[in-house]
Formats: sequence, C-alpha cells, structure tokens
Amino acid sequence: MLQIWPVQAFADNYIWILERQGSTRVAVVDPGDAGPVLAALDERGLEVGAILITHHHGDHVGGLQEMIRRFHPSVFGSSTESVEGVDRPIADGDVVALSDLGISLDVLALPGHTSGHIGYVGNGLAFVGDTLFAGGCGRVFEGTMAQMHASLSKLASLPPETKTYCAHEYTLANLRFAMAVEPGNTELADRLAATETARAENQPTVPSTIGFELATNPFLRCSEPDVVSAAVAQAGHNLEPGAEVFGIVRRWKDGWSG
Ligand code: ZN
Ligand code: FE
Repeated sequence: MLQIWPVQAFADNYIWILERQGSTRVAVVDPGDAGPVLAALDERGLEVGAILITHHHGDHVGGLQEMIRRFHPSVFGSSTESVEGVDRPIADGDVVALSDLGISLDVLALPGHTSGHIGYVGNGLAFVGDTLFAGGCGRVFEGTMAQMHASLSKLASLPPETKTYCAHEYTLANLRFAMAVEPGNTELADRLAATETARAENQPTVPSTIGFELATNPFLRCSEPDVVSAAVAQAGHNLEPGAEVFGIVRRWKDGWSG
C-alpha cells in the first residue's frame, strides 16, 4: 500500500513523501528545504531512494544538496532545466520507475510556470508542482499563456478521480478569486466554505482531484459560458473561449488582491 503525506516547509510549501508500507526507502517530491524533511524521515526511520523535481525554483530544489549528501538518491528532473544534483534528466513521455515503491510514473511536460516544468503522473496520482493548484494555477513566469493553458488542458484530460498534489497551500486565496470569476457556481461556493473551515483548523486542502478542479477551478473552465463572460467583461472586448480567456483570467488574478 502506498501512502502519500506532506511535509510543510517555508510559509506554504508542501513537500510530498511517497511511502510504501513495508519499505523504509521513500521518494520525495520537490525538497525545497531539507530540515523539515530530514526531521520527519528520521522520526520514522525512513531513508530517501529517489527525489522527483518538478522545476528549478529555489523553494522546490533548495534542500537537494543536503538530501544528496545524506542519502545518495536518484534525482529526477527536467532535462531542459539546469538543477545541480539532478542525475536522471527526463522529458515528456519518459517513465520513472520507482522500484522501492513498486510504481512507475509518466513524465508530462507542463511548460508555463517555468519553461521546463514537468509533472509526474500514474497510479491515480499526479504531482503537478506549481502548474495546477487547488482552485487555481501557477503564475506564468517563463512560458506563454498559451503554453500554460495547454499544460492545464493536459492535466484536465486525466481521469477525473486522479488525485492532484500541488506544492503550495494557496487554496483559500485561489477560491476567493474563483468566486469573483464565477459567483454563480454553487459547487465552488460549497468548496470555499469547506476550505475556510479546513484552514481555520490548519488542515491541508491538498490533494484535490481532477474532477473537483474541473467543477470549481476557473483556470480549467475557460470554455464555460460564465467564465468566458466574466473574462470578456474584464477585457472589455470579445474573446475566443479557451486559451484567450485563460490569458485574461490569469492576468486578472495576477493583479487581484481580494
Ligand atoms: Zn515555482
Ligand atoms: Fe513554488
């Protein structure tokens, strides 16, 4: 049996640990900070066999050197981004076999937040880094709006029950923005209320699922009439549903402070 659990780092990062019952060797996704990860692993008598990196930002790779010195794991990361310590460069279509866990994950190119951003997908799980957040999506720093829209569309086409593990607890702020886009979405209103309760109790709101995101995340709903008309009102001119709407909604969120 596979267990996925978070280590919290910095203000709002989640570092995901993949652990198989009966094995002491885990995989770690995006160890931005080694300290809290090592503390959690030492407490449980676990070691690291593999590290999966989604993109080069410091809050995702900052703990890498210390983890490598301690465990000498295989370190997987995007072949088009330079991250010191990655010794297994991978790209879209590659398969990462995690033998300690008895699973394999497919590598998906997800350009947009960074141009080499990748995700790891399989076994009903998707580790999506800073691409698809619960209720939102990452900022578009290096890629284009069209690339980010295409990356999110790839994730949207995964089976709806797929669990999505993003790297930040941004859900509450994301859903408040989502309500500004789609005030008439009752499932979204329910999600916001449940998220407010969960966060008041300091509970993580990740993982989500693709199906839940499709119903409530405006960035996956850029062809829905209500999202299109909200974006058109923002832009002040007509928009093509899809990528064009996405670009407007993403910029709207960039400048939105609640
Ligand atoms: Zn990032
Ligand atoms: Fe990040």
